[in-house]
Amino acid sequence: MAFEGLADRLQGTIKKITGKGKVTEQDVKEMTREVRLALLEADVNFKVVKDLIKRIKERAVGQDVLQGLNPGQQVIKVVKEELAELMGGEQSKLEVANKPPTVVMMVGLQGAGKTTTSGKLANHLRKQKNRNPMLVAADVYRPAAINQLETLGKQLEMPVYSEGTDANPVEIAKHAVNKAKEEHYDYVLIDTAGRLHVDEGLMDELQNIKEAVNPDEILLVVDSMTGQDAVNVAESFDEQLDVSGVVLTKLDGDTRGGAALSIKAVTGKPIKFAAMGEKLDQLEAFHPDRMASRILG
Ligand code: GDP
Repeated sequence: MAFEGLADRLQGTIKKITGKGKVTEQDVKEMTREVRLALLEADVNFKVVKDLIKRIKERAVGQDVLQGLNPGQQVIKVVKEELAELMGGEQSKLEVANKPPTVVMMVGLQGAGKTTTSGKLANHLRKQKNRNPMLVAADVYRPAAINQLETLGKQLEMPVYSEGTDANPVEIAKHAVNKAKEEHYDYVLIDTAGRLHVDEGLMDELQNIKEAVNPDEILLVVDSMTGQDAVNVAESFDEQLDVSGVVLTKLDGDTRGGAALSIKAVTGKPIKFAAMGEKLDQLEAFHPDRMASRILG
């Protein structure tokens, strides 16, 4: 379950307030305090929490809520709506090119789950959207990365475009897009190289690929278990590449996954998908409202 620690705590708080026929200002105060602590403990960015709590208070202390029929539930509804808003509000869908193929660049640090997510996204597009995607191995620095993508391609019975480790990633990306045009694939998912840290060499290469293939989407794959670092990484990648969306991975491992909730607020970029396991079908389109409901029970 995603955000388990956060969910447990918030649900405990909610239980206390649900049955209340009358909610006093003191109740709202206590509840927002609990929500605040739960979010901070889950590693949600301090400023983000502060803004969120301010909005919840403003709305929950309003007369409507206090005099409503079911005040406890109304307060919870406010928290739910604000949490959904924090995560982006409306669902943000994958862009689609006017003329196929839709080109998607997958970027992120090594180990974030880029390669796995590329396979999962290809699987999702085919199964859920009846699409015909092609995978591209553009991480030429780690032979294992190419093998890993090829293995995923085999499992999915899906083509993987590769030129081995001696080719230039920019050229690989260009050739792959041309091939997809000729052979009528409607999505090209480019698995780019990652590094352990954000560095200039990596960003230059990614910028060059971006210029060469003009992607419809640049999806930043972020390991939500890395806590506040996930937010810093997202900020750096976004500054350099102007990413179009985020994929949160490893939401199945709980710990401090809450940091990832700040990413939308900090970068302004929507979370488009969430990965909750290593298997190829463990990727979901991200629905902020549904996620907020799951967290709050
Ligand atoms: P890359 O270096 O960014 O391409 O990362 P990989 O795709 O190789 O993933 C790194 C590790 O994280 C692998 O062992 C994956 O199986 C694992 N992984 C990826 N996504 C998830 C996820 O959502 N949940 C879990 N538990 N593991 C994941």
